[in-house]
Amino acid sequence: MVALSRENTPFSRLARACRDLEGTTKRNEKTTIIADLLNSLHPAEIAPATLFLSGNAFPESDPRVLEVSYATISEAERNLGQARLTNAQLTVLEVYETLARMAEATGPNSRTRKLNLVQTLLTRSSKDEADFLTRMLLREMRIGVVEGVLLDAISKASGIPRDVVRKANMLHGDIGDLARKAISEGVLGLEKIQLRLFVPIKPMLAEIAADPGEALTEHIDGTAFEYKFDGARIQIHRSGDKIRIFSRRLTDVTESLSDMVEFARTHVNSSEYVIEGEAIAIGEGGRPVPFQDLMRRFRRVHEIEEMSGKIPLRLYLFDALYLEGRTLIDQPYTVRWEILSQLVPTSSLTPRIVTRDRAEAESFLKTALKEGHEGLMAKSLTSNYSPGARGKKWFKIKSADTLDVVIVAADWGSGRRVGWLSNYHLAVRDEDTGEFMIVGKTFKGLTDDEFDTITARLKRLKVRESHYTVHVKPAIVAEVAYSEVQKSPIYKSGFALRFARIARFRDDKLPIDANTLQDLRQRYNRQFETKARLSLGK
Ligand code: AMP
Repeated sequence: MVALSRENTPFSRLARACRDLEGTTKRNEKTTIIADLLNSLHPAEIAPATLFLSGNAFPESDPRVLEVSYATISEAERNLGQARLTNAQLTVLEVYETLARMAEATGPNSRTRKLNLVQTLLTRSSKDEADFLTRMLLREMRIGVVEGVLLDAISKASGIPRDVVRKANMLHGDIGDLARKAISEGVLGLEKIQLRLFVPIKPMLAEIAADPGEALTEHIDGTAFEYKFDGARIQIHRSGDKIRIFSRRLTDVTESLSDMVEFARTHVNSSEYVIEGEAIAIGEGGRPVPFQDLMRRFRRVHEIEEMSGKIPLRLYLFDALYLEGRTLIDQPYTVRWEILSQLVPTSSLTPRIVTRDRAEAESFLKTALKEGHEGLMAKSLTSNYSPGARGKKWFKIKSADTLDVVIVAADWGSGRRVGWLSNYHLAVRDEDTGEFMIVGKTFKGLTDDEFDTITARLKRLKVRESHYTVHVKPAIVAEVAYSEVQKSPIYKSGFALRFARIARFRDDKLPIDANTLQDLRQRYNRQFETKARLSLGK
């Protein structure tokens, strides 16, 4: 089939698939729609079409960005009016090439050039095509195609087992190219995929453990306890003079981290490696700065020099994934750590202990928390590095704070949670006014049964309904666990809880007994007893 198709698949074929995908919530139907599409394409069209379905023009690891604003699109649409040349059909590859040109347009006239390119696409689009093009440009595809569905579809289209496709995806970092390889080169093509320099690898993830004891019980061959820093995870790739740094989400953040590039050039004892660690921002007295403030540094790519003076970063390394032609991910933790410790100065290694003693690990956890860090990571000494996988080889041990909040509204769920009121608006009471002020939303932490019960209770408490939100009388108190109190420009309360999750319902409490805005303010300030405050003079 592949041999017969040519490189001129009309873009309308892709738009039709998007419409069909939007029309079903069934995973297996979605998989079939995508698999059929992929099998109908020329190999050269597979990567761009796959990326498009995922709502992206370029792979995650590709530094190119489209940066087309809503205003530009509206202007293009206004300029066009009814003028659509629908007989000059767009092809999938033409769309991709035009998007690539949009990303290349930078500098003074870039807006006009982008506007022209958007117009070129829209004049030749049908209504449906224009709809999906603009959604993609605005990064709002919303056709329910998550990565797992794409991988299933690639497996179905190529006949390659799902596990093989998934494993290859973890190493490859470009799902479009993966789809092309799977379909046009088959299983041998995927098996050849290895860790490659400058292609970021998906980070290994950890499960939550309540305490060090849980990790010790699970890891029969021993555990290393490392500090868990609240920073930004980075992987550094170097070959000779070329150094690139990738974030946890696999984006290239080299430009915003010139001091880390310098570190990689001068402090690592090799010129060909991939190493991984956590960059943390240091404030007054050498204490870590809260995560929210660190992220400002990542965003302000244009003010790097200024920012790097204001927020010095420190790098703590914890893994070595590749060294001088050798992939290390199948090696056990102990071997990778040994290699890492030969490569970098001891002061850049993540502080750690190897112990089987519970009390010793508990006391190490206390020290980490006292120093303002998030907790500990517990890593099995014999474990290999499983890219992208979350499992018991690594545990994270944090001491989550909890807060009693009141549910004041809830959104109707979608996908698996359809029919349930499942996203809860969490509020604390302002002691001064008696008003309940929202500090976050969460749908995490509940079982299906609890969703059922709570939906019924909320329906009885309804005061009004707008759009997909049901506003309720403040009556239900929930204990939520969270990782940090952040300042919020969005909520009127001025605060937001990071990573809020419902721990349990506190039916023993009334809204009046819940925590207050004043408590929250105090907790926010208390964070600075162990963390440094960032003052940017802004
Ligand atoms: P979480 O984001 O809560 O799932 O925790 C995992 C994250 O902790 C990783 O993605 C890293 O960014 C971060 N982290 C901090 N310290 C370490 C460490 N020593 N080893 C691995 N990850 C760490």
